[in-house]
Amino acid sequence: MIIDCHGHYTTSPRQHEGWRGEQIEAHKAGKPPPPRPRITDDEIRESIANGQLKVQRERGTDLTIFSPRAAGMGHHLGDATTSEAWASACNELIHRVCSLFPKNFIGVAMLPQSARVSPNNCIAEIDRCINEYGFVGVNLNPDPSGGHWQDSPLSDRYWYPIYEKMVEYDIPAMIHVSASCNPTHHTTGAHYLNGDTAGFNQLMTSSVFKDFPAIKFIIPHGGGAVPYHWGRYRGLAQDAKLGLLSDLMLNNVFFDTCVYHLPGQELLAKVIPVDNILFASEMIGAVRGIDPETGHHYDDTKRYIDQLPLSAADKAKIFEGNARRVYGRLSTTIEKQSVRAV
Ligand SMILES: [Zn+2]
Repeated sequence: MIIDCHGHYTTSPRQHEGWRGEQIEAHKAGKPPPPRPRITDDEIRESIANGQLKVQRERGTDLTIFSPRAAGMGHHLGDATTSEAWASACNELIHRVCSLFPKNFIGVAMLPQSARVSPNNCIAEIDRCINEYGFVGVNLNPDPSGGHWQDSPLSDRYWYPIYEKMVEYDIPAMIHVSASCNPTHHTTGAHYLNGDTAGFNQLMTSSVFKDFPAIKFIIPHGGGAVPYHWGRYRGLAQDAKLGLLSDLMLNNVFFDTCVYHLPGQELLAKVIPVDNILFASEMIGAVRGIDPETGHHYDDTKRYIDQLPLSAADKAKIFEGNARRVYGRLSTTIEKQSVRAV
């Protein structure tokens, strides 16, 4: 089985994001938001059949761990109330996708974060998404201010209510920023990779893994700059007398394969132990074009893994085994959803 652990619903029916625009406009005008739009099952089916499901079939992958569009989370927009309503709408839509295509998609929640608002306000939505929707993880935005970094670092106890829930439910968090509202930081070219790198560094210099030995984080986009600069982080850990970086991080931190060229994948697989790498593509996401050097889509990351000089057993870990281990509820959910699909 090939499990892509990083997919977003970038092809949702138009009225979904349309409502978000209206919601934010209403908020600015001090008015209540309009009622949520009607979205039919057929509209959802069409958006998936011609989108992510089509790509799964073309590329030979089986299951996508699926969450709301990341840049669309927009935690810097509106306030805690608008974030709550928007997260609820987005997660509900993911649940509908997973119900319509139970063999192909399993949900991960977006959180109703808001800049400088305690993450305590995310707990009810985590409970709902795990207990009612059967989701298997969350996306945690380390910078809800959208490129201005106004909240506490991930090392701070500020975030502990979410960490407690992650351990309680055995769900990992993918550290994933949203859109940048800071014009110096392009959303997918700078802010995403900065968020990945900063998140890793914040956790590295923290006592989070001492306080939560079982907690698991996934650093997306191949870990931002981290694998390339692994020597820097090893040296920083050593200078700060934190011990060996591998001992410090690799029980709790995992890297996905959203790296859009073969040399990057080769470096990732050379630097990071195979047990800490999870297959992912973020298909129909940040980079949608075809690489003229290969003739294939940049985000067709399975092709790069296929070419790595790894054993079949190691590739199976990257494609399936590690995801089942890191997402503690995944195997049970796969069984439950495949029963529903019959
Ligand atoms: Zn993403």
